Amino acid sequence: MSLVHPPRVALIGRTNVGKSSLFNRMIEEKKSLVSDVAGTTRDRFYADCIWRAKLIRLIDTGGLDVDVSQEIERNIVRQAELAMKEAEAIVFVVDSRIGPTPEDIELARRLIASPKPVIVIGNKADTSESRRAVTEDAWQNWPLMRPIAVSAKQGTGVGDALDAITEVLIKNGTPPTAISTVSPMKIAVLGQPNVGKSTMLNSLIGEERFIAAGIPHTTREPNDVLIEHDGHLYQFIDTAGIRRQASRRKSGTALEQKGVDKTLEIITRADVALFVLDVNVEISVQDKHLAGLLATSGVSTIVVVNKWDLIGSKNPTTINDYEKKVRAHLPHLDYAPMVFISALKGQRVPDLYKAIQHVYSSRFTELSDDEARQFLSRAIMKHKPQRGKGVKHPEITSFTQTKINPPVFTLAVNLPREDSLNVAYVRFLERLLREYYDFTGTPIHMRIAAKQGKSHTTHQSAGAAKTSKASKK
Ligand code: GDP
Repeated sequence: MSLVHPPRVALIGRTNVGKSSLFNRMIEEKKSLVSDVAGTTRDRFYADCIWRAKLIRLIDTGGLDVDVSQEIERNIVRQAELAMKEAEAIVFVVDSRIGPTPEDIELARRLIASPKPVIVIGNKADTSESRRAVTEDAWQNWPLMRPIAVSAKQGTGVGDALDAITEVLIKNGTPPTAISTVSPMKIAVLGQPNVGKSTMLNSLIGEERFIAAGIPHTTREPNDVLIEHDGHLYQFIDTAGIRRQASRRKSGTALEQKGVDKTLEIITRADVALFVLDVNVEISVQDKHLAGLLATSGVSTIVVVNKWDLIGSKNPTTINDYEKKVRAHLPHLDYAPMVFISALKGQRVPDLYKAIQHVYSSRFTELSDDEARQFLSRAIMKHKPQRGKGVKHPEITSFTQTKINPPVFTLAVNLPREDSLNVAYVRFLERLLREYYDFTGTPIHMRIAAKQGKSHTTHQSAGAAKTSKASKK
């Protein structure tokens, strides 16, 4: 996947011509999210625009307009210089309804001297009258090309403009980057308020470039953030509630307060959940509920223990002690790897990407029918199957992996429908599968097909919870 350096196109133009609206229209994204996201660079906003399955990186220099006290001419000069330095091509945005202003002409003079190709876009062509305005003499005789009439407000002409940009980039020897048919890893960030979710998210995605438009094979909701990191695509699901918290005092708008339904909706869309805990806060009932939801869903989980910087004297066993403590409270998630980070200091945050990669690829671990058969023989040699009531040893007549992402195994048992395998035995099979194969962070579903009739699915981690409850009684 060659996503590394899409050609850059800078949008420049004087204040109020609608550069930012055009930028947003091209990437089909809400400005709030984009500016929020690009918060690290205050005066330039970047986003990758996908046009005809190719990527073009847009630079919105609109942030420069903020400084109204600055002399307009200097402002324009700065934009032009910046654009000429950084971009492969320049989009010069003008107001199509009025002829070139003295500032437009000044900017055009500078641009014509630049080796970078320039495309002129006449924005605010909302009516047929204003669309015709770009054909007027005033625009014919000025130093650059006649503007392409566009209405950022209505979206008209934007496709033509992107075609023109693509053509210029190709001629320039810097064609838009193909994105083939990649599908991103979908990541949910979950946990109680104040554990540091937004801090972590900002630390994770703060430095990355944003891909704001749709990718084939992907459904993206408005509050998702799609980024590229190290050549991989990550889609952070429903980040609105999380990101908002960073700028607001906690006042009860948090994602988690929207309740179980919302959480389930997010989990259902995700491949991997980052379940964030605060190392200094006891694991709550809500955390345990969330762990239960995660374990019975199809999502993979990484337990992220945050605020590690607040732990004073650390020695080599400190992490182990904490891990034991957390695991004791979250038996449902015994298969989830645990990562200790300081979101605030950025410590070990990059490790999260590695963990996500690992956990994601484990969802695709697949046993051939032969491997599954051999696995079952080995398992039976260790322990004979037990039925629910533990009376005799039923026969497992077949064992196959029937699904990946997430993995599902189907066991056919020589037992009548109302009976089943002992939960502890199914649990043993799962443990052994994890021992022999890499299913890190991934729930494994076991479907048990009885002798006659329907099969049912036993979820292993849910089974574990039942067992541990039973043993406590
Ligand atoms: P959220 O509600 O889960 O999104 O939590 P926030 O990201 O808003 O963080 C809540 C508070 O914890 C803020 O005051 C953060 O500065 C602080 N915080 C977040 N991560 C860390 C960390 O790694 N270490 C420390 N010491 N504080 C943190």
